[in-house]
Amino acid sequence: MIASISDLDVHGKRVLTRVDFNVPQDELGEITDDNRIRESLPTIHAIIRGGGIAVLMSHLGRPKGERILKYSLRPVAERLTELLASEGASVRFADDCIGDIPAHALATAKPGNVVLLENLRYYAEEEANDPEFCAALALSGDMYCNDAFGTAHRAHASTSGVASLYHVVCAGMLMQKELTFLGKALNAPARPLVSVMGGSKISGKIDVISSLMNKCDIILIGGGMMFTFLKAQGYNVGSSLVEEDKVELAGELLRQAREKNVNLVLPIDTVIATAFSNEAECKTVDVHSIEDGWMGLDIGPMTSRIYSHLIESAGTVVWNGPMGVFEFSNFESGTKAIAQSMALATTKGAVTIVGGGDSAAAISQFGLASHVSHVSTGGGASLEFLEGKTLPGVVALDR
Ligand code: AMP
Repeated sequence: MIASISDLDVHGKRVLTRVDFNVPQDELGEITDDNRIRESLPTIHAIIRGGGIAVLMSHLGRPKGERILKYSLRPVAERLTELLASEGASVRFADDCIGDIPAHALATAKPGNVVLLENLRYYAEEEANDPEFCAALALSGDMYCNDAFGTAHRAHASTSGVASLYHVVCAGMLMQKELTFLGKALNAPARPLVSVMGGSKISGKIDVISSLMNKCDIILIGGGMMFTFLKAQGYNVGSSLVEEDKVELAGELLRQAREKNVNLVLPIDTVIATAFSNEAECKTVDVHSIEDGWMGLDIGPMTSRIYSHLIESAGTVVWNGPMGVFEFSNFESGTKAIAQSMALATTKGAVTIVGGGDSAAAISQFGLASHVSHVSTGGGASLEFLEGKTLPGVVALDR
């Protein structure tokens, strides 16, 4: 059983809360996208409106155990202050995540206050899940909350070790939302359950595809990984992205799909180009006609139509990985078609979930992020969840 922050009495309590404030910044340190901060607001509201003190901790970038100024969370504290202005909540920034500095900040903190601790990864002990570091962190809270789904697949001090020092642990609102959507999609999906898999490489996703084979009715393949499958079927793929050492495994997945009666669908046409560039000469061909010297950079329009039809007739859709090089306008059509069909399926009542990472970036690029049921905030974490792995950050909350 995982308790939710909304079920607990936080009045007068310091709630040590792991959030994901790993926001993108430009060279000047300006936050270029504050979505992750906004996503944590429901949890912060739940704590401060309940009369608790929100003690927030996060990592930012990869300072690898060193205090490097550009990875400071101070700009995040400033943005958070703006975002919480309407609540009248005071946000204090503690220049360290353990020791005297947070202790002083907390000594005078009052119910309804927010304290943001400095970057956890200024200490190598965070990623090492060091017990002494966990104990030092735990001094800042009376109870523990984890709202950082994006790092839940890592057993770090702030996501795993520190939780074991608490009697009262809970999931934040965002974590709860992630677990509800992904959990339902895997365990009690409205059918047909359609999974759309793309992205550059098959290697990171083989285990997920293999595991989805036991759950899904239909798996649609696109992106760079399609060429490893096509090669396994004996087709010429020109200079398309192929992982030679995974060709055999791709063939094995195709065999497994036949045995398990899962409809594993491969593209029938593709947009090919003479180089990996938006300026390169390009044309659409069927997948059996890729000539040497050409590389496939998107699924073709006929494939898009078939995939769209299957998505729009689904009960549940889980999408992970773009269908092509959507960063180049000449090769974005396949990914755009999937995003549009996801939105349409949602209006027809399907549950539609976008795994994090590049597919989340793609659906935002097309302005459709708010038109699907759920966009996961965790790329790696959502993949591991779909693979059926237990996530250390989630296990730590289960009492
Ligand atoms: P991944 O990180 O594995 O999910 O891959 C995402 C990346 O795959 C995106 O940056 C896409 O540009 C890239 N991608 C998608 N399709 C292709 C393709 N056919 N060839 C090369 N890269 C691709």
